[in-house]
Amino acid sequence: MIEKDVLIIGGGPSGLCAASMLLDSGLEVMIVDRGLALGGQLIKQTHKFFGSKAQYAKTRGFDIAKILIEQVLNHENLEVLQEATVLGLYQDKVATVSYQNEYLKIKAKTIIVATGASEKFLAFENNDLPGIYGAGAVQTLMNQFGVKPADEIIMIGSGNIGLIVSYQLLQAGIKVKAVIEASSRIGGYKVHASKLRRLGVPIYTNKTIKRAIGKNKVEQAEIISLDDQFNEIEGTSEIIDVDAICISVGLAPSYQLLDMVDAKLGYIPELGGTVALVDDHHMTTVDGIFSCGDSIGIEEASSAMMEGYLTGLYVSKYLNQAHPNYDELVQKYEKSLELLRGGPFGSKTRKGLKDMKEMLNDVR
Ligand SMILES: Cc1cc2nc3c(=O)[nH]c(=O)nc-3n(C[C@H](O)[C@H](O)[C@H](O)COP(=O)(O)OP(=O)(O)OC[C@H]3O[C@@H](n4cnc5c(N)ncnc54)[C@H](O)[C@@H]3O)c2cc1C
Repeated sequence: MIEKDVLIIGGGPSGLCAASMLLDSGLEVMIVDRGLALGGQLIKQTHKFFGSKAQYAKTRGFDIAKILIEQVLNHENLEVLQEATVLGLYQDKVATVSYQNEYLKIKAKTIIVATGASEKFLAFENNDLPGIYGAGAVQTLMNQFGVKPADEIIMIGSGNIGLIVSYQLLQAGIKVKAVIEASSRIGGYKVHASKLRRLGVPIYTNKTIKRAIGKNKVEQAEIISLDDQFNEIEGTSEIIDVDAICISVGLAPSYQLLDMVDAKLGYIPELGGTVALVDDHHMTTVDGIFSCGDSIGIEEASSAMMEGYLTGLYVSKYLNQAHPNYDELVQKYEKSLELLRGGPFGSKTRKGLKDMKEMLNDVR
């Protein structure tokens, strides 16, 4: 059995930032990640990020990943297992890990679950035909492995991810025939939508996919118009020739490991769906098991980093080995998080967090 002060499951931005605070506090840390490389979602992001300088605005996602990895890698108190999947988590703070065809057991004084999110999917006829991808899968193929996933594609969903991945598809030489959005408004930032439109990609609202058509793989997509109750408007069917369909209809927090330890969960749509309830110090209802980043609410890399730093700090105090600059840093990162969640774009998250607090009070 491997023994550590802290086991971090997930080496995305939130896990890496938590690790940096814990290492600075003199604790022994292990990061376990199932990916080929550390960095989580960031390693697929070829675009420059928005936001403020403190969260690496105007830097490309994969370059942010490099900065965060450099902050911790080669630290004498850090051990990293890559291509290692945590399969089981137990209340006595033991994790079972599948690594190089073996099962390892890791026991830690505290565990931070920073497993990010998974893609939501859509129910429609023939949605299992080869050629139907989630936007994250398309990004992995193109940006991580250099594989062109299609020649002609249609994007379902106009949130920021749908818009950004559509642009990246164009950059890879793929014709994006249209972006289709079921609601009456484009979900993502106007700047991303305008860029696509300037490049000749139509964005249709009040429409959805009804069916994928093809014998052994996608050959066409049937698109229909919707009324304001999201019902099909008869006679609006349109067939579009494509060899792939990309689905980008949101992300769902990866809470499953926390369910295994019986952490209390709540369904909070504003945070992306089912999440483990955490307190102000990011501890779940299971003593010593913490969570941060997209796994407890879908936001952005900027907030995942701030949550990661804070969770690392809180855990250092929980283990009676508080970071030397604990108070100053907690104040700094809490302030940054508050700023990120301020304004109209943060209203959904603020509501979600308020609901989480109420749910937590109810279960206690
Ligand atoms: C297309 C796209 C564009 C984006 N653009 C922006 C942007 O412009 N600005 C911005 O701020 N944010 C952006 N984001 C969001 C940002 O990437 C995420 O919010 C952020 O990566 C979340 O960080 P995280 O550490 O919580 O999770 P992730 O980055 O998802 O990392 C989770 C890690 O956990 C690992 N893992 C999961 N389960 C297990 C397991 N059982 N065992 C071992 N390892 C496991 C995964 O391999 C992964 O490395 C974008 C996201 C996407 C998809």
